[in-house]
Amino acid sequence: MDAANCEQACSLVSKSYISQGQQALAKRHRLIKTLLSSRRLPEQGWDEPTIEAFVQDCALMDSNNFLDNVGAGEREGRVACPLVARQHYHLAHGIGRSGDIAAEQPKAAGSSLLAKMTMLLATDALRVAGLQDLGSVTVLPLATGMAMTMTLLAIKAGRPRDARYVIWSRIDQKTCLKAITAAGLEPVVVELQQRGDELCTDVQAIEQGIERLGSDAIAAVVTTTSCFAPRASDDVVAVARLCATSGVPHLINNAYGIQSSSICRDITAAWRKGRVDAFVSSTDKNFMVPVGGALVAEGSKLRGLVAAVNKTYPGRASVSVHLDLLMTLLHWGSQGWQKVLKEREELYPHMKQVLEGVASRHGQRVLHTPGNPISLAMTLDQGALEQLQDYTFIGSMLWARCVSGTRVVPKAKQQTVAGIPFTGYGSHTSAYPHVYMTAAAALGGSTSEADVFGARVDKCLLEVVAKAGGTVNGGNKQECMNS
Ligand SMILES: *Cc1c(COP(=O)(O)O)cnc(C)c1O
Repeated sequence: MDAANCEQACSLVSKSYISQGQQALAKRHRLIKTLLSSRRLPEQGWDEPTIEAFVQDCALMDSNNFLDNVGAGEREGRVACPLVARQHYHLAHGIGRSGDIAAEQPKAAGSSLLAKMTMLLATDALRVAGLQDLGSVTVLPLATGMAMTMTLLAIKAGRPRDARYVIWSRIDQKTCLKAITAAGLEPVVVELQQRGDELCTDVQAIEQGIERLGSDAIAAVVTTTSCFAPRASDDVVAVARLCATSGVPHLINNAYGIQSSSICRDITAAWRKGRVDAFVSSTDKNFMVPVGGALVAEGSKLRGLVAAVNKTYPGRASVSVHLDLLMTLLHWGSQGWQKVLKEREELYPHMKQVLEGVASRHGQRVLHTPGNPISLAMTLDQGALEQLQDYTFIGSMLWARCVSGTRVVPKAKQQTVAGIPFTGYGSHTSAYPHVYMTAAAALGGSTSEADVFGARVDKCLLEVVAKAGGTVNGGNKQECMNS
């Protein structure tokens, strides 16, 4: 209802009532106007009707929803199933044009507006999370691994013809390695250094790798910030400095690092003090939306890669990933986003305490990994558990007890990933001295979930020891079975 229609309505219903209703409408319109002009997260999250009104208005601006539209082409945003049309708010044209995913789609002014606004709000959300000196940001309808591949392809296009190596600080997650090989590049694995319990970046080995191969043969150095303990977040500042002096691009896999203020600080320091071409982050892990999207972001000092990634993307894309992120960011607003970030920071010490409790009851210990602000690890091979033959079944037991997200990492597992043989696969290093399990203090997790998790691990370990016929803290088998 615009002003003209409200005036018409006054002939049907009392003017004073209509004008009250009109003011209510105007309030929602002002929220939308402020969003369009400020291009930032609203301070307070929006209510659902306002979010829906905004999205529905945009949908009606797309040509597939024009009342008098006649489609004579092969891509007219036709949707057969009404359920599907509703699931997508009748947005069917997608975004981008064949040459650029960030380009406006002429048939879809509304979708184009939604996509642009998503990019702007995501940029603001990164600022709120603690990233400073941001350059361009893009939202890709690809999960982290594929977004890494796209970004590496864009980097490769700007490198000397023979640049085919990627120097890669080891992280045992298959996607990370496949992201490199899928881009037609050759990973050069740089093993980590163990310092105390923690596995840290071997900056010197990366430097030697660059010298040995020569800058022109290297497409990029890839580091990773968010990872399973006992691996620490890579020393992105030191690597950024190396990359600046050697003229080699530096791409950071920041899969779920946006949720950590200390990782945001490290990345900011890295692109201030050295070379960072971009980082890639998952939308589902950082913003609690369904899997499918990633952000690629660059600093203000070295710009160009994000635009290159947008241009590398072949074809159009679904707007669904953008829509999920946009709705979520509008739902949170700046305050809601800050709240979930704060709750996550508070979850870490809580999760640590829970694990320490379990560890002390079972003669285990939480590994000392101050360089990892999200993931924690607890030994499983001390005391009464030392004699176990097989540890992986502890993971299955937890899974069977509805605990998800933990990993039990055995020693010396051999595995070949993307054609590269690894020893100790899963532990980020060839000979980690412990069998351990991991747990994460991740965005969206709650302290009560952590408590239940602790109780289930507790119970599970008691069962394990009881079955093995051993003892826990001097207690006998019978005692364990009764607890
Ligand atoms: C989750 C994750 C990936 C894989 O991400 P997808 O979104 O599944 O592609 C890669 N690297 C790291 C460090 C991750 O945490």
